[in-house]
Amino acid sequence: MTPAKVTFGGLRAVPQLSAAQLLTQRARLAQAVPSLGAAYVRALARWESDPVLRLVGRPIVTECFRSVQRQDELYAQGRTTPGPIVTYKRGGESKHNVLPSVALDVAFVLPGGEVSWSGLLLSKFARLMIAADARVHWGGDWPGFKDRPHFEV
Ligand SMILES: [Zn+2]
Repeated sequence: MTPAKVTFGGLRAVPQLSAAQLLTQRARLAQAVPSLGAAYVRALARWESDPVLRLVGRPIVTECFRSVQRQDELYAQGRTTPGPIVTYKRGGESKHNVLPSVALDVAFVLPGGEVSWSGLLLSKFARLMIAADARVHWGGDWPGFKDRPHFEV
């Protein structure tokens, strides 16, 4: 009887962000209030220095500041336009609608290159965000509607 072979041959690395994607990440982070931006940078550094987490995915900021018009478009989604409901805030009501923004949304680039909003990964990242700055609140901790990609101060 041969023991099961342990192989990492199928393990793909998380793709590096391109220069343009890194610029986009920097531009989005620059929209955040300094405390939130700094918490994200610290949490990202801890994620990237973890030998397991870094293999699982790469955190990205998908949105930080959001215009009132864009907020209204998102509010319409699932109500008067197709798609699932993603927000209960109308234009002007969201923490994303002030500049600098006191909220940002996070997702992950997976080894295959696809973008994930995994609740498990987001909960792990939330621990790092709150460890970086205890003033950070995670949307996954809210009672009722859980907004897991969402972080705010
Ligand atoms: Zn959000």
